[in-house]
Amino acid sequence: MLLAKAREEIVKHCQKMAATGLTPGTSGNISAFDASHALMAISPSGMDYKDLTPEDIVIMDLEGNTVEGKRTPSSEYQMHRIFYAERKDVGAVVHTHSPFATTLACLGWELPAIHYILAFAGERVPCAPYLTYGTKQLAEAAYQAAGDYNAVLLGNHGVLALGENIHRAFITAESVEYAAELYWRSLALGRPNTLRPEEMERVASKFSGYGQQE
Ligand code: 13P
Ligand code: ZN
Repeated sequence: MLLAKAREEIVKHCQKMAATGLTPGTSGNISAFDASHALMAISPSGMDYKDLTPEDIVIMDLEGNTVEGKRTPSSEYQMHRIFYAERKDVGAVVHTHSPFATTLACLGWELPAIHYILAFAGERVPCAPYLTYGTKQLAEAAYQAAGDYNAVLLGNHGVLALGENIHRAFITAESVEYAAELYWRSLALGRPNTLRPEEMERVASKFSGYGQQE
């Protein structure tokens, strides 16, 4: 079975994404890229996350052909593929419809640096315009709006988080949702302070050594 470890990681994180309420129903999708084989492993389309097994994960090449797997791949495979084709720093993509961040995306707002935890994503989280789900146009708009950042809001849709591996991309997706909730709460009470780009850069470099180094 190709990309066995990545398949397991995708199943684990899809189930966590659903169980923790980070995304409702069968929304969202997760992929990981194996640069040495130029292949991505991606979650299947529209399957109940609790039933997922490693065999359900689909292996695709960067032209969008299925190389291994019986399931229909995520309808958003183009939005995952484009980041692996264009950005060497991206090894995993996590897409959610997490409620607070998606609320901002429904307003077409970006998420400012409301909390230092957002440094996983960048100095802010831009918002891409609305485009129909599962289209190449949406993939291109998400890629353009993301720039060098590790997260982007998708207008009237959700969140896309990027990382060197699934663990990092997942933390970024969680951090965007947490910061979006804080932003909403802060705006309800007053005018939130935001952190300067230099401070977000400082925190981002601290994060590269954060936690237990293997
Ligand atoms: P899939 O179930 O096809 O991955 O689609 C879910 C989604 O969030 C579409 O944007
Ligand atoms: Zn979606």
